[in-house]
Amino acid sequence: MGSFSLLSAAARRLEGKVALITGGASGIGESTARLFSKHGAKVVIADIQDELGHSIYKDLSPQSTSFVHCDVTKETDVENAVNLAVSKFGKLDIMFNNAGVSGVAKIDIHEITKLEFEQVIGVNLVGVFLGTKHAARAMIPARQGSIISTASACSVIGGSAPHGYTSSKHGMVGLMRNTAVELGRFGIRVNCVSPHLVATPMAKDFFKLDDDGVHSVYSNLKGRVLKAKDVAEAALYLGSDESKYVSGHNLLVDGGFSIVNPGFF
Ligand code: NAD
Repeated sequence: MGSFSLLSAAARRLEGKVALITGGASGIGESTARLFSKHGAKVVIADIQDELGHSIYKDLSPQSTSFVHCDVTKETDVENAVNLAVSKFGKLDIMFNNAGVSGVAKIDIHEITKLEFEQVIGVNLVGVFLGTKHAARAMIPARQGSIISTASACSVIGGSAPHGYTSSKHGMVGLMRNTAVELGRFGIRVNCVSPHLVATPMAKDFFKLDDDGVHSVYSNLKGRVLKAKDVAEAALYLGSDESKYVSGHNLLVDGGFSIVNPGFF
């Protein structure tokens, strides 16, 4: 069982469910894999970081967890990952499109190359399109499922990240809304979870800040620090039956950051 103990049966909110988590080898994805597993889900971790992914999978239960190499920009990889979840665990209940990149730290539009812009869109938006498409393929016959994608507070505001990142996250919300409408008739729910800054490898690398730096500069709920686990808890809610009537929603986990007018208080 590794180092991760299960909750009592009554407390498990994903008992009997099968989840696929892209970007599950690090940060928010890893935290979600551990939380979903703790709540009784069978979890497939999909990532390009094979060593990390394997070590997490082994730390959880090899009977109820799996790792698959998956580059979300490649349709065959995404298709294979979905097929693996179905062949190994019998079905797919929860698709967590979480893999993402920040892209280059260039702010001025005239300095960003077309390739740099396309690379971010390729992972963050096209990757989510592919994940949603192949999850829907597996979920439609079952007439149920929950598709969750990690967008960002940058999905509702401008000026907080480079253009490729902000564009990809806004685009994800549009795709989520369209597919929530389309897939609702099959009983499939589609939502986004949108965090503010979490001190994961991606954010620390991009902002060149340590844990404290990230939080002291950007925290809105003073004295409170956003952790990967807090985002995982939001994904847990959206993946569980507790949110059975929630679809087409972009759940901000940003401590109110995106609604603050900084000049007001
Ligand atoms: P992270 O770097 O810890 O994790 C991202 C994971 O995605 C890594 O394991 C990486 O290997 C994987 N990945 C990257 N490209 C991939 C690809 N092509 N195919 C498959 N996997 C790929 O970063 P994180 O902060 O946990 O990021 C997770 C998600 O959260 C991203 O979508 C990110 O945009 C979003 N997000 C993060 C923050 C933050 O402050 N950390 C804020 C808002 C949104």
